Amino acid sequence: MMDSEKLISQLHGLKAVFDDKESELTALDREIGDGDHGVNMKRGFSAVAEKVTEGSTQEILKQTGMTLMSSIGGASGPLYGFSFVKMSEVAEDTIDSENLATILEVFAKTVGEKGKVSGGEKTMFDVISKTADLLREKGSLDLKSLQALADDTEDMVATKGRAAYFKENSKGTIDPGAQSAVYVIQALGEGVQN
Ligand code: ADP
Ligand code: MG
Ligand code: MG
Repeated sequence: MMDSEKLISQLHGLKAVFDDKESELTALDREIGDGDHGVNMKRGFSAVAEKVTEGSTQEILKQTGMTLMSSIGGASGPLYGFSFVKMSEVAEDTIDSENLATILEVFAKTVGEKGKVSGGEKTMFDVISKTADLLREKGSLDLKSLQALADDTEDMVATKGRAAYFKENSKGTIDPGAQSAVYVIQALGEGVQN
């Protein structure tokens, strides 16, 4: 169960995660994009750690979304940002696994609609939608298994975002947004489990 305090601590924890993973995400985005995804995510969650410090779970998710929208830029900023705003609308005061499943379904739906993307196009959507399905089916998430969902994007050909310009050459690299989505979802999942 994740109350507002736990949610804040999990979101603030993502600042350290993205400090740590900046070079990994940048390396992926250098292969099939413009090399800024690491910096983008780091900037976004540094801003969240600084600006989102109190409120109900709904307020925290909404403020996180607004902060990500105004600080990340690029394709991923509006996708993550708008998703957190929409997720705030279905969050309960204390988030349990079942509510997290609903939240992740909204996450997937929002990215799908805003990004005009569906499964197999090599984006963050692949990780988010499959995780939502897994949690709904099984009732809990094996957080370590999420990496396999990002790994699955390696063999895909990108048809959305900058990576689509690489066509067949986008094969052989994990999608940067799929990788960052693993970290975002792991933080939320961990909050519910502990
Ligand atoms: P930019 O491509 O503008 O530099 P980022 O590098 O921060 O933005 O983010 C790139 C990631 O955004 C991609 O790896 C992909 O997961 C995601 N993305 C890009 N376009 C879309 C889209 N139309 N739908 C879903 N996700 C997308
Ligand atoms: Mg980029
Ligand atoms: Mg960019």
